[in-house]
Amino acid sequence: MNETFDAVVVGAGPAGSAAALRMAQAGLKVVLLERGEFPGAKNVFGGVLYRKQIEDLVPEFWKEKNAPIERSIVEQRMWMMGKESCVTFSHRNEAFKEPMNCFTGLRVKFDQWLAGKAVEAGAIPVYETAATELIRQGDRVVGVRTDRDEGDIYANVVVIADGVNSLLGKSLGAHQGWKPDEVSLVVKETIALPREKIEDRFSLEGDEGVTVEFMGETSLGMAGMGFLYTNKESISLGIGVMVNDLTKKQIKPHELLDSVKQHPVIRKLIKGGEMREYAAHLIPEGGYDSVPALSGNGWCLAGDSAQLVNFVHREGTNLAMKSGEMAADAIIEATKKGDFSAQTLRSYNDAIRSSFIMKDLKKYRGMHKLLKDTDPSLMFDKLPRALNEAAFNMFSVDGVSKADKQKHAIRLMKEAAGGTLNLVKLGIRGWRATNG
Ligand code: FAD
Repeated sequence: MNETFDAVVVGAGPAGSAAALRMAQAGLKVVLLERGEFPGAKNVFGGVLYRKQIEDLVPEFWKEKNAPIERSIVEQRMWMMGKESCVTFSHRNEAFKEPMNCFTGLRVKFDQWLAGKAVEAGAIPVYETAATELIRQGDRVVGVRTDRDEGDIYANVVVIADGVNSLLGKSLGAHQGWKPDEVSLVVKETIALPREKIEDRFSLEGDEGVTVEFMGETSLGMAGMGFLYTNKESISLGIGVMVNDLTKKQIKPHELLDSVKQHPVIRKLIKGGEMREYAAHLIPEGGYDSVPALSGNGWCLAGDSAQLVNFVHREGTNLAMKSGEMAADAIIEATKKGDFSAQTLRSYNDAIRSSFIMKDLKKYRGMHKLLKDTDPSLMFDKLPRALNEAAFNMFSVDGVSKADKQKHAIRLMKEAAGGTLNLVKLGIRGWRATNG
């Protein structure tokens, strides 16, 4: 292509499509480049999408007949897993429905839908085409080289939204390749189940849905979380653990998921289901201190490629879309000025840093260090086990007085932590890590 576009967006995931949509809506000439056969063809995630950031781009999208919504979430559960048990905490509320707070979705549908909105607004789709490198003039990025013959695409700004591995971001020096303690590996199965079974097992009516996040003995002593989300006629079940732990323990990811599926609480929820899809993918979990420079001369970095994931709250897609939207806004302003320098595009970097995205990542800034410095078996094995034992004891009617049971529960927790002082220290470190 000989033409110079206003922008080329690399990657039609949530970040890239949001950026392309916003710029196309503002009348910019935008190319949306995607290496997959179509957007979402091979993309993987757990399954929860958030209304707010999508609505900012596509008002009242949920009223559309073909909106990519599986189930509207009315209940969120947290489970602390023991070997054959769990201690649970959950919140169900009808108020989550009107308007919906979040919903489950499938990437193969969602990504196509969002990219379709960008194309409807005027973005030019170029699919089955991978960007292989950035084209530079001096210290300015002026376009991308692709794997097609004569496939160079020139643009005033390149939005790099190529996901967690971000080869383009790496080529800019934005990151040197993520370290094993900055990424988790998640394995996931989509398990088909009849609609009525899902609704019965989770006490749901119509298109209501439930999310479950779980941690504890299910991650086999490694730092990690599992999830189980209800779709219309399937369940998304997965577990993610930090890559450094996985390497140390030499456990194969599918073995981890197999062991999760055997847990009695989970086994009963997926019973009779048929595995439809198995996938594995990385999540950037470096947090606040791993976020690189977000813009420079002729480029912006958005979504996973910039480590914009709040893993404590499993929020990634919304941060990706918001960052794509903010990059687009900065490029729209730069286009008005005719200036695509690092100085002008810095407004994107500044917008992200003063938004809820960086405020939230800052709040959990210490989590990465806490996980790095704490023996994972303490938080993900010993303490959950002690909590489950304490709960079992407390709820068992066996002639032992409640005061003695309480003492026993406290003793179990202290022993698990290696003494009172360690327990107190862990509590303080946990508080600091989540209030950065
Ligand atoms: P991606 O979604 O990775 O999209 C990048 C796109 O770029 C892809 O389409 C890819 O094909 C394309 N691409 C890559 N390289 C090139 C290239 N060179 N040329 C052209 N195209 C290219 N977030 C949530 O909000 N809720 C959840 O429940 C949730 N669960 C998750 C569970 C799992 C198993 C995983 C892995 C992630 C989960 N996340 C979740 C995180 C969320 O999926 C990501 O944060 C989000 O998808 C990031 O969007 P993105 O557009 O930045 O990147």
